[in-house]
Amino acid sequence: MTTKTDAARPPLTQLADDEALFRDSVYEFADREIRPLVREMDEHAKIPRELLNKLFDLGVMGIEIPEGFGGAGATFFHAALAVEAFSRVDPAIGVLVDVQNTLVINAVLRWGTDDVKRKYLPKLASGTVGAYALSEAGSGSDAFAMGTRAVADGDGFAITGRKLWITNGNEADLFIVFANANPAAGYRGITAFLVERGFAGFSVGKKEDKLGIRASSTCELLFESCRVPRANVLGEVGKGYKVAIETLNEGRIGIGAQMIGLAQGALDHAIAYTKERKQFGKAIAEFQAVQHQLARAATELEAARLLVYNAARLRDAGQPFLTEAAMCKIFSSEVAERVTSLAVNLFGGYGFVKDYPVEKLYRDAKIGQIYEGTSNLQLQTIAKQILD
Ligand SMILES: Cc1cc2nc3c(=O)[nH]c(=O)nc-3n(C[C@H](O)[C@H](O)[C@H](O)COP(=O)(O)OP(=O)(O)OC[C@H]3O[C@@H](n4cnc5c(N)ncnc54)[C@H](O)[C@@H]3O)c2cc1C
Repeated sequence: MTTKTDAARPPLTQLADDEALFRDSVYEFADREIRPLVREMDEHAKIPRELLNKLFDLGVMGIEIPEGFGGAGATFFHAALAVEAFSRVDPAIGVLVDVQNTLVINAVLRWGTDDVKRKYLPKLASGTVGAYALSEAGSGSDAFAMGTRAVADGDGFAITGRKLWITNGNEADLFIVFANANPAAGYRGITAFLVERGFAGFSVGKKEDKLGIRASSTCELLFESCRVPRANVLGEVGKGYKVAIETLNEGRIGIGAQMIGLAQGALDHAIAYTKERKQFGKAIAEFQAVQHQLARAATELEAARLLVYNAARLRDAGQPFLTEAAMCKIFSSEVAERVTSLAVNLFGGYGFVKDYPVEKLYRDAKIGQIYEGTSNLQLQTIAKQILD
């Protein structure tokens, strides 16, 4: 039976006016300012600083930061919409915006003291790129087995160790760094710290040469007795595991958003191309086999979008979303792989070369099944919830 309340509830993909306006303005910006740079950024594996400045001017680098701190004062769902819209054009920019909002700012908003918020949120909203440093060479899926240590040192800590694979490492001026301050306590020693690029004993190391999302920097971070003031502990000493788990649970919704944007971008290209490309005297989109392939891709993408939007809306509503977030990430990353692969097929030989955009999206899609928890780890989370 449909109640009045049910009838009043908007459909999941129906956006409120402000959400639609925001999404459209981000997409228009991406289409105008980013699309012409995509190939060059991919080849040179670099995001120009001028583009970063424009992203800050657009207000997408501080989406959930309250207006009082210079942010947009919007919701997590807005952040997901922005990541989706950017990723439709360039998933490398999508992940830059994603890490800034759904991991770094998210963690500072939830765990930062008033002083930390006053100090760092205005910077993050206006020009400081953030990064989130959990993984190490020996600890990826088993992240809490980290070797980086924090030792109490006067009114602060000295951090020693190495982080690997850190997104935004090249551009960031502020790093959320996880280190164990009490290894005897196991994961209950893990502590989150806010490290500024200029802190003595900290340096950014090698940048990875990657298969996809090449413009997004992925760097090693080095800590040699890096002194961090106690005021820069994010949350409590020994509670860093909670900071990590809670932000990553939400962050993976952002990766879901990146993957549906990427898949939409590939589908846009495939539809446009198949309507233009002629073989056997007609557009290849007129062949029923091609139509069915496009229809299946659009259907899978719609299902993935519903999962991502639902997880993001659950999060904003303060409802449990752990299972839904894991489902949205695994499903949307698999859909992105399938849709981009189809797009390459439908472009024929042109899909295999860099002069056309789908080759890059195919490479970019692969990361969705790896970072912020591999697909096996997402399945583990889902299985634990449904078998509990
Ligand atoms: C481009 C890029 C950007 C990244 N950005 C960041 C970042 O900003 N910050 C950050 O902290 N990290 C980042 N990472 C790291 C990323 O989160 C890890 O690579 C990921 O968690 C996997 O860890 P691993 O590479 O050590 O693989 P491993 O953990 O060694 O996994 C290898 C394989 O074993 C499987 N496996 C492992 N354990 C299990 C298990 N228990 N059950 C079943 N299968 C299992 C995995 O699913 C995977 O297929 C990034 C990585 C990349 C490539």
